[in-house]
Amino acid sequence: MTEPFIPPAKPIIGEEERAAVDRVMRSGMVAQGPEVAAFEQEFAEVFVGGRTCVAVNSGTSGLHLGLLAAGIGPGDEVIVPSFTFAATANSVALTGASPVFADIEPRYFGLDPASVEAAITPRTKAIMPVHLYGHPAMMVELEAIAAKHGIMIFEDAAQAHGASLGGRAVGTMGQFGVFSLYPTKNMTSGEGGMVACETPELVRGVKLLRNQGMEAQYQNEVIGFNNRMTDIHAAIGRVQLTKVGGWTEQRRSNAAFLSENLTGVVVPPVADGAVHVYHQYTVRVGEDRDGFQAALKNEYGVGSGVYYPVPNHRLASLTRFAPGLELPETEKAASEVVSLPVHPSLGQGDLERIVRAVNALAGAGA
Ligand SMILES: *Cc1c(COP(=O)(O)O)cnc(C)c1O
Repeated sequence: MTEPFIPPAKPIIGEEERAAVDRVMRSGMVAQGPEVAAFEQEFAEVFVGGRTCVAVNSGTSGLHLGLLAAGIGPGDEVIVPSFTFAATANSVALTGASPVFADIEPRYFGLDPASVEAAITPRTKAIMPVHLYGHPAMMVELEAIAAKHGIMIFEDAAQAHGASLGGRAVGTMGQFGVFSLYPTKNMTSGEGGMVACETPELVRGVKLLRNQGMEAQYQNEVIGFNNRMTDIHAAIGRVQLTKVGGWTEQRRSNAAFLSENLTGVVVPPVADGAVHVYHQYTVRVGEDRDGFQAALKNEYGVGSGVYYPVPNHRLASLTRFAPGLELPETEKAASEVVSLPVHPSLGQGDLERIVRAVNALAGAGA
């Protein structure tokens, strides 16, 4: 194998990001300040139609503070998928509420509305769909369920910057929506998160909680955290915001090439009216996924990832919330999925090598 390894993900951090960091460092003011305020405004305009955004130090903090600001706490239940990163359920558990796991529907890997409806109890306060891999969850059906039962919707949009459904951007459909700015996400600030809030009360709540419960200095109103974003991170994010649109187009065009040319694996479908931003390009392979991944890497130099091999309700940390629970589509997906490289740094030669590799291996029954 002489061709260079194609990594499964590749954060892009350029000269402008470095210059922006230097500018903030030279100012001597590096903690939350004007860069964060500008980033919040610009992010809101780019992604959520101007809905007010509050920056925090991670996507996980964003979910946690959003939940707390919405009044979620001990005795409450929030319905979440199990087929996601553990941060989704962790954020619920950290409030003292219980995450209740529902199954996914198999095409788009989001919450299955029927499974959600079956999980509702008198304690259910909200549904927290995840727009997994950058494909919007089945929001119309979930919104109908939420309306019928008088419960809230919170969106985990950590992987879905710029995705939409029926022309509505993710992050604008629930009481709040949270984006992650971790390096492997579709854009980064180093670490960071953004909470898009529907109401001024939520904006105020998240702002208070991220900064020790203070609006006016030393007038602490509630018990809060230090979950602030720094101006250094915001400066990186502001540069990335100017580039993310082009990167998303590149991801979508890479995905289109893969979907047209791959055979022998189930390629990811896109729902009617949905814009998929391909945080991951995820296929299902038949038996022997481990062998498939190893051969991709060793014979073709193609990296891949599995998101996520262990359903959350089976994790040692979370299983107490779901003793004996079985979620068949979640378990099936966890055993079958492989994410192939789709990031914007891929060249045409890389895409062709990925196709050649997958078609040879899947065709060979690997
Ligand atoms: C990345 C991610 C998070 C957490 O974001 P961090 O910025 O890493 O804290 C939450 N939910 C999902 C689905 C994610 O992919």
